Amino acid sequence: MAVEKIVIEVLVELKAKKIDKTFSYSVSDALKDKVSVGMRVLVPFNNQTLEGFVLNIEYNKELDYNLKEIIDIVDDGPVINKEMLELGKYISKKTLCNLISAYQTMLPKALKAHKKFNVNKKYTSYIKLIDETYIPKNDNQKNIIERLKNGLVLKSELSRISVSSINTLISKKVIEEVKEETYRLIDTNNYQDNRVKLTLEQENALNEVLKCKDKFAPFLIHGVTGSGKTEVYMHIIEEVLKENKEVIVLVPEISLTPQMVRIFKSRFKNSIAILHSALSDGEKYDEWRKIERKEVSIVIGARSAIFAPFTNLGLIILDEEHSDTYKQENTPKYDTIDIAIKRAKTHNCPLVLGSATPSIESYTRAKTGIYKLVELKHRINKTMPDVKLIDMKEEIKKGYRILSKKLIDNITDCLSKNEQVILFLNRRGYSTTITCKECGNTLKCPNCEIPLTYHKNGNKLNCHYCNYTTYKPLICPSCNSKNLDSYGMGTEKLEEEVGKIFKTAKIVRMDIDTTKKKGSHERIINDFKNKKYDILIGTQMISKGLDFENVTLVGVLNGDAQLNIPDFRSAERTYSLLSQVSGRSGRARPGKVVIQCFNKEHYSIKYASTNDYESFYKEEMAIRKKLKYPPYYNICLVTLTGADYDYLKNEADKVKEYLSCLNAIILGPSLCTVPKINNKYYMQIIIKYKNIKDIYDKLKFVVDRSKSKSKLNLEVDLNPKKI
Ligand code: ADP
Ligand code: ZN
Ligand code: ZN
Repeated sequence: MAVEKIVIEVLVELKAKKIDKTFSYSVSDALKDKVSVGMRVLVPFNNQTLEGFVLNIEYNKELDYNLKEIIDIVDDGPVINKEMLELGKYISKKTLCNLISAYQTMLPKALKAHKKFNVNKKYTSYIKLIDETYIPKNDNQKNIIERLKNGLVLKSELSRISVSSINTLISKKVIEEVKEETYRLIDTNNYQDNRVKLTLEQENALNEVLKCKDKFAPFLIHGVTGSGKTEVYMHIIEEVLKENKEVIVLVPEISLTPQMVRIFKSRFKNSIAILHSALSDGEKYDEWRKIERKEVSIVIGARSAIFAPFTNLGLIILDEEHSDTYKQENTPKYDTIDIAIKRAKTHNCPLVLGSATPSIESYTRAKTGIYKLVELKHRINKTMPDVKLIDMKEEIKKGYRILSKKLIDNITDCLSKNEQVILFLNRRGYSTTITCKECGNTLKCPNCEIPLTYHKNGNKLNCHYCNYTTYKPLICPSCNSKNLDSYGMGTEKLEEEVGKIFKTAKIVRMDIDTTKKKGSHERIINDFKNKKYDILIGTQMISKGLDFENVTLVGVLNGDAQLNIPDFRSAERTYSLLSQVSGRSGRARPGKVVIQCFNKEHYSIKYASTNDYESFYKEEMAIRKKLKYPPYYNICLVTLTGADYDYLKNEADKVKEYLSCLNAIILGPSLCTVPKINNKYYMQIIIKYKNIKDIYDKLKFVVDRSKSKSKLNLEVDLNPKKI
């Protein structure tokens, strides 16, 4: 006989990736009024107890079989609100990931569905007077009651008078203890706010955005370094806050956050929550609670802050929008800009993307009217730094292997004036490519025009796009020189070399190795700002957002190293990096930039040195068009991983076959840049396509099919940032 029941749909995280659906449970009378959609519950599953999210509740459902009951609820209320429930589905569809992994990624660890994980709430105790008619029996009691006449007082403070009197008064119900949830991150600093009058350009940018403040409107603010974008953001925010709406501000990296946070705190005081990966789980949870409880109206953070559970958003800002860190590399491989657009649409609010060097894709959207383009063409201090390009091929011949003569002279000059120097060397882990020391030629793939990667094993050069392979030549194909070599030096070696030349200079290095400890970024930045050091040496960590008044010289070593990385975005990254680094010089007074490189004729370097984004964009677009790269084509990267090479290759070939009937260009399969990690092989297939509709169903089929194969892991990345 059918009985009417309440059916609860619960989503749990399971090891077996192929299961991506909810399970149905019933609920006891005791819990049925407490459980709600978006809440975490405990459910029985295959003799285990699992935590999961309630995605749906159906009342009065007729069932002729029995369901298992929910064991308990985990939270008092939902941890995922309505908007976020929808957003999870959007991410799952858009990135082809399991629904559970979308929700898990949106939440701080303390609120994910786990088997066991607890973050304690922190409390502060206050004392409150409840019986005002009580006549004190001694001086201590009298003092305590006096203090409480004007309201709550911290228990720790009153304890200085007398702990035993407090206890006596509590037991007599004269006073009571009140506990209030407090937070781990409490910043009691009082920051100085430097209010400025906006320039005409800034005023114009502000007005453009404000015209659209009550509707969905995406903007791209293209402003040269030092044009005062931050000040524009803050003015827009002020207007949005006046309407009691909320704001998300995204910054690419934690190293940028300290300065940005300080500037924002100086203006908006305690109305700010901070979310980034360097916080502890407890701190993240606390910041999240501030947002949920509506105690703050601004959140500043890295990528994941886009999921801040505001319910009345009035503005989203993505600073340095071109930054790769806005793309999540792990599943779900979402692009923060997509999520920002989705949320801004839901809340009918503007989205402001800002950059001195917009991504080619974003700039194209702005040019074609999808985004509104707003330009800030001038630096606040009116002068762009004077940029010199140095050809290291010539310098090496003269015996200057690491620092060129020009850079040494400039550093000497700068130090003698008590001004500061930044030296930039972006030595990231990339496999070595082969460059000719005579003519500067880097060996490239004939099909893709992308540098070939040198594989020591087998002495081969290989293209990671199309798998073109050749033996490493003995002589340079363009000048016949035998002087083929790989070029490589890291920041540590540079620090040593600079120390040898400038013996009395105080040098500090900032890279992943020197900033492992919490707070070390900020310490180095502050120490350098306070002139404890003369020279700051660093990786891309120092390229963005930093604003040091006393820096009048920036030296870039290996300015074209990025061009040797086999990726179609290498030129774009080179342009961006050089502009950003150069932008650190001469922010308060005239500055110089020296860029050392081997290919000073390369358009990305040439145009970065003259700060000519428009010309760079034109030249880059011509190449993108010719070689069918974004924005002319979209790219999807399919990565297959497995321990058995032959099996993997066979599977990869099958996947290629499934995809080959599509209206798309399929490249590969080929081994990835790093072909083997932990005894597992990595292969990739690249799909170049025009419209996602052309490939989506087949792609989904390939993904679903792979889930049942235990020896194979297959991931897709739509619009990958690294190939
Ligand atoms: P960007 O982010 O575009 O590189 P910033 O926002 O860091 O530029 O601004 C550069 C410097 O100019 C900062 O020190 C900032 O305080 C200052 N500044 C910004 N706007 C003004 C203004 N209208 N008047 C004076 N100084 C300003
Ligand atoms: Zn050569
Ligand atoms: Zn190739």
